[in-house]
Amino acid sequence: MDGEEEVHVLLVTLPKQGHINPMLRLAKRLVSKGLHAVLATTENERHRLLHFKASVTQQTNPPKTPTISLEFFSDGLSDEFDREKYLESSIESLQTIGSKNLSNLITKLKTKCNKISCIITNPFMPWVPGLAEEHGIPCAVLWIQASAVYFIYSNYFKHPYLFPSLDNPNDAVELPGMPMLLVKELPSFILPSSHICLTKLVSDFVQMLDKVKWILGNSFNELEKEIVGSMGSLQQIIPIGPLVPPFLLGEKEIIAASMDLCRPEDYCIEWLDKKPPSSVIYISFGSLIVMTQNQIDSIATALRKSCRQFLWVVKPPEKGCSKRSGEFPPGFLEDTKERGLVVKWCPQEKVLMHQAVACFMTHCGWNSTLETIATGVPVIAYPHWTDQSIDAKLLVDILKIGVGMKNEEDGTLSVDEVEKCIMEMTDKNTATEMKKRAIFFKEAAKKAVANGGSSDRNLDTFINEIQGKSF
Ligand code: UDP
Repeated sequence: MDGEEEVHVLLVTLPKQGHINPMLRLAKRLVSKGLHAVLATTENERHRLLHFKASVTQQTNPPKTPTISLEFFSDGLSDEFDREKYLESSIESLQTIGSKNLSNLITKLKTKCNKISCIITNPFMPWVPGLAEEHGIPCAVLWIQASAVYFIYSNYFKHPYLFPSLDNPNDAVELPGMPMLLVKELPSFILPSSHICLTKLVSDFVQMLDKVKWILGNSFNELEKEIVGSMGSLQQIIPIGPLVPPFLLGEKEIIAASMDLCRPEDYCIEWLDKKPPSSVIYISFGSLIVMTQNQIDSIATALRKSCRQFLWVVKPPEKGCSKRSGEFPPGFLEDTKERGLVVKWCPQEKVLMHQAVACFMTHCGWNSTLETIATGVPVIAYPHWTDQSIDAKLLVDILKIGVGMKNEEDGTLSVDEVEKCIMEMTDKNTATEMKKRAIFFKEAAKKAVANGGSSDRNLDTFINEIQGKSF
């Protein structure tokens, strides 16, 4: 960018692993294209964020070479405050006090960087676009879920007549460009069972869209073509993904910074190195879900009976979290120690890339979904809440790279169901067919972000627009 004005972009995110990862990955892409990125999140997770290397540091002066710097602002609550238990108060405090602190940070950054060309916000902080407007800075949203979920939420609040009453979970929902859905498969934030403040968060997001100039999607054209082509009068989503680490797509990692909230147990890669190709079931349900005792019992019993190798991430509940996690059935760890490894947190992308991994039993969080697509690993889909049922539908019914693991009518998970899914995904014929299709989408993901690919071109256009250039 010699001789040109430096371009600074501020990215604002919630301090959740599934939110930080795509924002950091977008920041890296912007930096690789010559922009400066400042990533801001709330103060309370500062001490838990690991792995800041030289390229991701707190800066006192804006650097000359493009880099990512990190800033924090307080949400007005103490570190000890249980934000999950008192969700409503924490959302309110973030909006009232956090927004003032972020506004002060923006003022400080404007002085330091001369100009901020764009603020890119997480959709679940719907007050940020208003703040950007007050500061006279154009605003973009990074939509961190499937484009289909953006499409459903926007239609629900803008065109409610397209939806049946949501009281009957088995009623059909027919939306243009989408396969038929049941009410119970809709993203949970709009269902009557959702916490009212989560429904409000999504409604507020849709209401503030007129203050947003770009909606960047962490997806790619080839993955959700029909949806992207069906936006109609809704504000268009611009796919720039998949935002996964470049090494997953065979590219060089220019900035090797990661921001884990838990310390990964890296020795699981050495453990995988000793396993035959396509022999291990990788099991993880993301950073937020705490499994019930019934789920742990059924998965553990099915693994024991199936005699398959497995790597299982069982995340303990957060400190101070009101949920209680179950324990393994007696003797499980001892009986399976030759063929199974249980860890609290692993380097998931490296695990998915490993040739020993046969399939991924996943909750279908959008990052995990994209990471499994980018590595060509078929799935056993076990969605829990929020957008995960839609992601599972994409993986199982549309892309056909996995099977769905279903609960019983009473909401419990049976041993037979887990065993059936494990057998199906490790059966030679089914597994080979699924793998073939998974590889097809892996290649499509690679092409989309490669130089000149659909997502890469979309990102270039966005960058030109924030620089005030139009070609
Ligand atoms: N992840 C990880 N190690 C683990 C489990 C998860 O690094 O042991 C990462 C995973 O690669 C993904 C993120 O945590 O990028 C989880 O995001 P996702 O959207 O899949 O689910 P969420 O945690 O938001 O429910």
